[in-house]
Amino acid sequence: MEQSLTNSRDSELLARASKVVPNGMWGHMATRAIGPGYPQFFSKSDGCRVWDAEGNEYIDFMCAWGPNILGYRHPEVNTAALAEIARGDIANGPTERMVELAELFVDTIDYADWALFQKNGTDATTTCVTIARATTGKRKILVARGSYHGAVPWCSPSVVGVTAEDRAHVIFFDYNNAQSLDEAVTGAGDDLAAILLTAFRHDLNRDQEMPDPAFLRHARSICDRTGAALILDDVRAGFRLDVRGSWAMHGVKPDLGAYSKAIANGWPLAAVAGNRRMLDGASKIFVTGSFWYGSAAMAASIKTIGILKSTNALAHMEAMGLRFREGLASIAERHGVVLHQTGPAQMPILRFENDPDLKIANTFCAAALRRGIYLHPKHNMFLSAAHQPADIDRALEAADAAMKDTVAANSGISHRTGA
Ligand code: PMP
Repeated sequence: MEQSLTNSRDSELLARASKVVPNGMWGHMATRAIGPGYPQFFSKSDGCRVWDAEGNEYIDFMCAWGPNILGYRHPEVNTAALAEIARGDIANGPTERMVELAELFVDTIDYADWALFQKNGTDATTTCVTIARATTGKRKILVARGSYHGAVPWCSPSVVGVTAEDRAHVIFFDYNNAQSLDEAVTGAGDDLAAILLTAFRHDLNRDQEMPDPAFLRHARSICDRTGAALILDDVRAGFRLDVRGSWAMHGVKPDLGAYSKAIANGWPLAAVAGNRRMLDGASKIFVTGSFWYGSAAMAASIKTIGILKSTNALAHMEAMGLRFREGLASIAERHGVVLHQTGPAQMPILRFENDPDLKIANTFCAAALRRGIYLHPKHNMFLSAAHQPADIDRALEAADAAMKDTVAANSGISHRTGA
């Protein structure tokens, strides 16, 4: 069923925000950065659904951009976190939850001998870089071109307000390309501190790529030879593909890993996990934050990871992702549209062929929104354990109608058959 396109509550809030917030909204959740038709403000969330400020309901495939893994407002997770809040979340130091959570990380993640906690993914990736430099005494960090690691000057995708000095020790290479990595290693000379890689290639607005295990082994061997740190940025994929770490399936162990997003099912928390070789550097650096020690998010994380380990949540997410992917593939086929679906099914991305300016993707996603389905036209999406077959089927019904609209509106759409 189509929802009204007008959302006067949203426009009202955006107009008010524009007077007191730069641009009305900042960062990746600014709807102008997503596409037409997206509501900016939400009023509630539950399971795999979100409601905008007007009260329109959506089956959600963004999962708060990753933090929702078990379902919004998960009762067991929230009960554990709220019990900590009832006792006092923030004090002059952490509660015993911190020790329990670090023990759980070490028990769960295949390369982890220790863990330390922060709030955002950027805190975790930046801490990894600091530990790598402290351990090695070297400066150069090799980063794959187009990979996102956060929004502070050393790694921000924007250059506005960033100086060349902030990036002076970052060298780029191409993901999954051993020759390009070798060239970057040569460029680093004897100053190589770390190679930093996302779990798989999940860059904005391009088909996703799993890591080539031979490429990961190559990166591992460079770090073994030079003493540099191999850093896995598992902020986006962590605990969604494999609780042991997203490279366990490829048999490659990083020295350091960065986590956030899904680790506490929406409660604010990030983590760095590391091996014994990185312990000395990790022990010497000074990193901290006023809210890094809160026990509520740690209790939420203990509960979330416990549930992920003791239930079939991961397999369920993958199965729901596959059901969605297969359904979309047959819808595309039926409408004669060439649709690329790449990467892990539980973190899907949709890309239309011959759609450089995203006109087709924007039409499709706006049409899906009107029918109560929240997709993203150019970023990878996320399934949660709360998505059920009936939700996927309902989303596919809407996607079918949205595809029909899209084909009608875009005469240039790339067809599988025909001219
Ligand atoms: N690394 C990766 C791979 C990410 O996807 C993100 C967030 N999208 C970050 C780091 C930064 O995390 P945060 O936004 O929580 O700082």
